[in-house]
Amino acid sequence: MLVLENVSELLTMDPTPVAGALPRGEALLAGIPKAAVLIDDERIVWLGPESERPAIPAGAAQVIDCHAGVVTPGWVECHSHVIYGGDRAADFDRRSRGLSYEQITAEGGGIQTTVDATRGASLDALVAAALPRIERLERHGATLIEIKSGYGLELAAELRMLEAIRRLDALVSADLVATFLGAHLVPREYRGDRDGYLSLVIEEMLPVVAERGLAEFVDVFCEEGAFSIEESRRVLEAARALGLKTKVHAEQLTSSGATAMACALGATSVDHLDHINADDIALLAASSTVPVALPGATLFLGKSSYPPGRALADAGKVPALSTDYNPGSAHTANLPLMTTLACTNMGLSPAEALYGVTRAAAAALDRSDRAGLLRVGGPADLVLFDLPSYTHIPYDFGGNPVKRVMKGGQGIV
Ligand SMILES: [Zn+2]
Repeated sequence: MLVLENVSELLTMDPTPVAGALPRGEALLAGIPKAAVLIDDERIVWLGPESERPAIPAGAAQVIDCHAGVVTPGWVECHSHVIYGGDRAADFDRRSRGLSYEQITAEGGGIQTTVDATRGASLDALVAAALPRIERLERHGATLIEIKSGYGLELAAELRMLEAIRRLDALVSADLVATFLGAHLVPREYRGDRDGYLSLVIEEMLPVVAERGLAEFVDVFCEEGAFSIEESRRVLEAARALGLKTKVHAEQLTSSGATAMACALGATSVDHLDHINADDIALLAASSTVPVALPGATLFLGKSSYPPGRALADAGKVPALSTDYNPGSAHTANLPLMTTLACTNMGLSPAEALYGVTRAAAAALDRSDRAGLLRVGGPADLVLFDLPSYTHIPYDFGGNPVKRVMKGGQGIV
């Protein structure tokens, strides 16, 4: 038995549903002041006010004093690209000198450089490079992490990326979720034959991925310069026909209709949303699709068009938050920083931002009943903060406020 005591605020994120609608404001957190948690055999066996804690015989439990700090559920990183070869520091240098995306590509940079480096990396090399990145995410509170393929863009290299996720799942403490992103970009060798590449994704890659059980989700980068609405729809429909769940990179750089398309197809999540409009927000509110905001990408690309977090929350859809950790547009594992950006640039309250990195992010991975919340009988995945209240998490910005991370009651950080 393990006891967490002297918790100033225990955020369970387990609000009782109120007539189908989420509670507003601080009630989202379902917080318990001056709380304690009892853990046995990897599960939570009791939680509640310290004053009501069941008596435990002396010596029968290990006690962790939380020093009047905050305890939250394990955080969920619901959108990452942490498996890749090489890096894109040279691109960052070019971008900082004012070069456009086209100029960077002309100088030999851009996403194709990551594709080349990933294709050239062995399975062992991909695993070795990704391991410290996943550990960085764990140090920032993540106990459940989604990882995408999408830098192979040919059958063997895409399968190698997904195989790397499977291997890493056995090596790290966090639970990993695999997403196939073969439709990330049309690779160089198919530039004049877009249909040829789509056929490769739909007719060759997807069936193998499904048959081998290498991915739970299929994602498409629906954007100017990547895949059109119609092309994206073809990939997503093929994925659904194979029994795979879907996600869409939608409206990051332009307003395209990708959100409406994804909602109509019943996608589990739509991610980015920097350029969605009021109609898209109404569609999202009426659908089961989870909006995911990636404010770190907006920041790192030097843009000002953050996703409309306030409008989404007002419509009853508090967006999930994620780092988008990837070598080009968001090279960070700092999930707590995303809560700060959500407050300063998206109009969310600290309570909504914390909901965004836990329960909402779990919903974006179709795990809202199992992850991102604390309840009796559930897994003891928790994050401890040496801070006096939850508002200090986004307020204490830029560093890492995480004190301790537990997965199944075991300390991993
Ligand atoms: Zn992404």
